Amino acid sequence: MNNSDVTGTLDTLIIGGGQAGLALGYYLKAQDRTFLILDASPRTGDAWRQRWDSLRVFTPAKYDGLPGLPFPADRLSFPSKDEVAGYLEGYAARFDLPVLNGVRIDHLWREDDRFFAACNGRRWEAHNVVVATGCSQAPKIPDFAAELDPAVVQFHSSEYRNPGQLQEGPVLVVGLGNSGAEIGLEVSRSHPTVLAGKPGGEIPVKHGPTAARYFLPVVRFVGLHVLTLNSPIGRKAAPSFKTHAAPLIRTKSKDLAAAGVRLTPRVAGVESGLPVLADGTLLEVSNVIWCTGFRDDFSWMDPAMLDGDALPRQRRGVALDTPGLFFLGQEFMYAAASATLPGASRDARYLAAQIPVPSRRVAARAAT
Ligand code: FAD
Repeated sequence: MNNSDVTGTLDTLIIGGGQAGLALGYYLKAQDRTFLILDASPRTGDAWRQRWDSLRVFTPAKYDGLPGLPFPADRLSFPSKDEVAGYLEGYAARFDLPVLNGVRIDHLWREDDRFFAACNGRRWEAHNVVVATGCSQAPKIPDFAAELDPAVVQFHSSEYRNPGQLQEGPVLVVGLGNSGAEIGLEVSRSHPTVLAGKPGGEIPVKHGPTAARYFLPVVRFVGLHVLTLNSPIGRKAAPSFKTHAAPLIRTKSKDLAAAGVRLTPRVAGVESGLPVLADGTLLEVSNVIWCTGFRDDFSWMDPAMLDGDALPRQRRGVALDTPGLFFLGQEFMYAAASATLPGASRDARYLAAQIPVPSRRVAARAAT
C-alpha cells in the first residue's frame, strides 16, 4: 500500500527521505506499519543529486546498497553522485515507500502523547517521529566571510557544482578535508589555487578498485564494528568526528602538490576585503570556496525536545526524555560509519526495532 496520502494519526512519521529515512522505511514496511516519509526536496535522491558534478563516492558499490537491494554497479566501482541519487529514487519506487516530496517541515512539536509536524499550513499527526534530516543541514562558514570584498566570488562547497562558477583569477579553497582536497584539485586545472587548512592525515593506500578489494573492507569493519559507542576507543573518537576533518581518501597532498596547488595554514580572518593568514599574509584571490563543513540545524523543532545547545538528547537514535521521538543518520549516531551509505542499514534496522507500535505503548502506559 502506498499511504503517502494517509490522514489521521500516523503510527510513525519520518522527516527526511534520504538514505537514512528510506532504509528505515524499508524496515517499517516489513513490519506492516503505517508510516509516511516527508522530504523537502522535489525528488528522492536530491541530497546527492545537488552535490558537485564530478563527485564520486569513496565507498565501493558493494557497500553502497540499502537493505533488500544491492547497488547495481560493479562491486569494486565508485558510483557517481547521480548514480547514487538514481539508486535512492529507484529504491523508494521498488519498495513502494510512501514518500511525499516538496514538504519542508518548519515546526515539530508535541502535545500530550502525539507529535505534530507542520509545513505551509499543512499538518501531520503521529505517535512516533523520526528526524532523518541528515548531518549536512546548514553550511558552516566563518563570520568573517561577510567582510570579503563583494568583488570576490565566494560560496560554500554545498553550492559548488563546477569550475564554470568561478571568475578569472586565483581561487582560495578553505578547508583541507576531502571536499576541499577534491574541489581544490578540480579547480586547479583552470585556476591558480591556494588551499588553506590543517592536514588531518591521509589513508596510506591509493584509492581505487585494489583498495576496494583489500583495504576498504578493513576500513568498513573498523567503522561499523570497532569505532562504536559500545567500545572505549569508539566513545573516545566520537566527539572528534564532528570537529575534525576526516583523513584524505582519494586526493592526497602529493596529488595537490603535483597539480601546483599551494598549501597554506588556516585562514585567520579578512583584512582590506581579502583573506588573511595568522602571520598577516594577505591572499590576493578572486574566488573563495568555503569547504568548512556543516552544522546541525534543528531550529524547526520545539526546543523542549532538544538540549541546551539545541541538539538531540539521544542514545543510538532514541530520544532520552521524549518518548516516541527518534533520530537517524546523525554523525556517529552509533558508529563511525553511521552517517554513510555502509552504515545506514544497520542503524535503521536497530531503530525500527525500537519504535513502539502505538497500541503497545498505550497499553504499557495503562499497565504502569
Ligand atoms: P540526507 O541525504 O542529507 O537526506 C536528508 C533529507 O532530509 C534530504 O532529502 C532533505 O531534503 C530532507 N530534509 C531536511 N530537512 C527537512 C525538513 N525540515 N523537512 C523535510 N525534509 C527535510 N557517504 C558515503 O557513504 N560515501 C561517500 O563517498 C560519501 N561522500 C560524501 C560526499 C559529500 C560531499 C558529502 C556532503 C557527504 C558524503 N557522504 C558519503 C556522507 C553521507 O552518505 C551523506 O551525507 C548522506 O546524504 C546522508 O544521508 P541522510 O539520509 O542521513 O541525509
